Amino acid sequence: MVPNGYGVLTSLPLRGIANSLLREAEDALVSIFFPAPCRICEKLLAHASRVPICEDCLDSFTRVPERACEICGQPLESFHPVTVESLRCPHCNPPTYAFARARSLAIYQDQLVRALLMLKYQRTDPLARWFAARMVQLVRGEGEAFEADLVVPVPLHRSRERERGYNQAALLAKPLAKALRLPYRPVLLVRTRQRPEKTVLSLEERREAVRGAFATRPGSQVDKLRVLLVDDVLTTGATLDACARALLDSGAKSVVGLTVARAARSPVTKHSPS
Ligand SMILES: [Zn+2]
Ligand SMILES: [Zn+2]
Repeated sequence: MVPNGYGVLTSLPLRGIANSLLREAEDALVSIFFPAPCRICEKLLAHASRVPICEDCLDSFTRVPERACEICGQPLESFHPVTVESLRCPHCNPPTYAFARARSLAIYQDQLVRALLMLKYQRTDPLARWFAARMVQLVRGEGEAFEADLVVPVPLHRSRERERGYNQAALLAKPLAKALRLPYRPVLLVRTRQRPEKTVLSLEERREAVRGAFATRPGSQVDKLRVLLVDDVLTTGATLDACARALLDSGAKSVVGLTVARAARSPVTKHSPS
């Protein structure tokens, strides 16, 4: 019914007459009389939405700069001025990724890191829908390059998903597919090998950990289809790349990647020498 910690209203004798309408009304009352704190900065939430983060924290997410690699979306200002005129980052010139394009909403830093940890460990559906709505705009803005036939979330290994109870990429991909009116295929791709237990992996370890770690499920219909892959964070691109390879090997026509956050490769928006 109502999330814990709201006191009085949760103990009203609703049993028996409770229905979804009543519950909604109750939720509305709870948010008026018992405003919850922002789960990032703890300021009381003023808005009626169920997103547990305040407007200031949501506004603080740093969008990926316009000058980004046309292939992988890496902000170009992170590179030495020698590449300034290029439309591609050194990693994509010549192209090395199996996906055709990757785009992200914002830079993986500060408040966004905390928001994504929340999505990963405390299942926050309203926040996932908030991100998905903005990812829809991003997809539409990319036009033809992001036209797809189906939406696939980057899968967790089965044992990891069982342990956590859900896949955070699926929380994003499902509402995204619905808004784009595309088929949603959460079980098309499987992760066949676990990520190592170590929390911090070097770039090479990350690549090694995902190489060949994904496969399409036998009988999956992906032949000649354009796939939109969804994940929470793009760090090195190795995960999207490994997923894209598995899909292309199974006959997919093309794969594009979409994530909430993008780890900029070097200090890009902060720490400019002064
Ligand atoms: Zn806040
Ligand atoms: Zn690139």
